Formats: sequence, C-alpha cells, structure tokens
Amino acid sequence: MSFLTIPNRLVVLTFDDGNKSDVTYVAPLLKQYGFGATFYITEGLNFLTNKEHYVTWEEVRQLHQAGFEIGNHTRNHKNVNNQTPEEFLADLEHLDLRCQQYGIPVPETFCYPGYNHGSQSVESLTKKGMCFARRGVAPEFPYESEGGRGPAYDPKVHHRLLIPTTGASGPNWGFDDFVWALEQAKDERITVLTFHGVPALEHPWVNTNPDQFKTYMDFMNDHEYTIIALRDLSKYVDPKTNRTPIPTL
Ligand SMILES: [Zn+2]
Repeated sequence: MSFLTIPNRLVVLTFDDGNKSDVTYVAPLLKQYGFGATFYITEGLNFLTNKEHYVTWEEVRQLHQAGFEIGNHTRNHKNVNNQTPEEFLADLEHLDLRCQQYGIPVPETFCYPGYNHGSQSVESLTKKGMCFARRGVAPEFPYESEGGRGPAYDPKVHHRLLIPTTGASGPNWGFDDFVWALEQAKDERITVLTFHGVPALEHPWVNTNPDQFKTYMDFMNDHEYTIIALRDLSKYVDPKTNRTPIPTL
C-alpha cells in the first residue's frame, strides 16, 4: 500500500470532551466549509448528568452521520498514568461499546484526557490496535493551562500514538498563535489544532469564543488549507508500522 506525500497546508482539527457546541455551533459551521474533524467523546466530566452543556449519545450519532470522526476519549476522563493497563483498557472498551450501541464505528483514534500521556498507555493503545493518538503540546512546549503553542506533527519524528497538538485553543491562545500554528504546516509536517467548547461552558480555561472560532475557520478557508480528521492521517502515514520508537517519557 502506498501513501500520499504530505502536502503543505494540511491541518487536523480536533474537539475534546463532547461539549454541546459540537452540535449547536461547530459541526454546522464546518459543514459549510466542507472541513473534516474529530470529536473526542468521554462519559467522564459531567457528560452523564449535565445535558445542557454536553452532547447526548444521539447527538454523537448525528455527528458521525454528518461525516465527522468520533474518537475515543475514555469512559471516565482519568489521567491514564494513574490507571493500570486493565483499567485503561476497560475505559476504552466501554466507549467502544457505547459507539456500537449507537451505530457509530469503533473509534480508530484516541486522545489523552487532560493532555496526560505516558509510555505504558502507548503500549496499551498499540495492543488494542489504535491507529493514531493525539496528545497535548508538552513536553516540547510548556503548557500554562489556558491554551498554548506546540510542535507540528512530523511522522519522521513523532510516534503515531503520541501526535502533538500544535495549537491548543484557550484564553491564552489567540489569532497570532493560530497563524503561527498554521505556518508550521509545511515540509511534510502537519498542524494539529485542539479545541474544546465553542464556548466551553464548564471549563473556561479551554474556552474559545464563537466569533473568534469563525475567524479561524474563515482564514483557513480563504487560504486554501486542507482540513481533516485525525483518522484521515492514514492516507499519509502508515498506521500499521511504527516509524519511530516509543520515546522514554
Ligand atoms: Zn478531555
């Protein structure tokens, strides 16, 4: 099987935690532009009790039916480094089961709750057959808890289960940071953007204002960026091989 050469201006778009804005604002807007995206769903946080601020499983199904990727963000949104491999696997499988119950394909990609990744979890994800996994901006860049810059994804450098976030939206990450993140999408490197709620009603430290978000999407549309879900990386990167060893974390 052959893979496409990574073009310039390739951007992966991701949304964590299943905020209500995924369906009320983000997905309809992305549809207008024809952009792909991944929505990472967890039953942790207040997903099960606060249906004003979080999507329902029926709405997750609608996101899938609209062509977006549904990714695994675990059952309980725990720090995977504080879990045994068995606990971590059980949380992953619970999310798989929920997806199956709602006619959603078993997720091919994962993102680490709370931006916490570790080598043991990479081993578990490998055994489970996960194709790709997204982390935060650290350790290459410091994370000051309210958004920030990170490395662009370079398949020659980064393990496919430790794909970094290039831009983490939050109160401390603005238009200049957004443009900087996009500028990294060249020389076979891919920009990966992480958003939460637009707005994030329960978590102001990862908030993005809707007007600001629209400015970002307009900019990418006007400048002819290609916007994909994390699973779409399989066109460019072989998910069955590890081109890079698991680093010591
Ligand atoms: Zn999360």
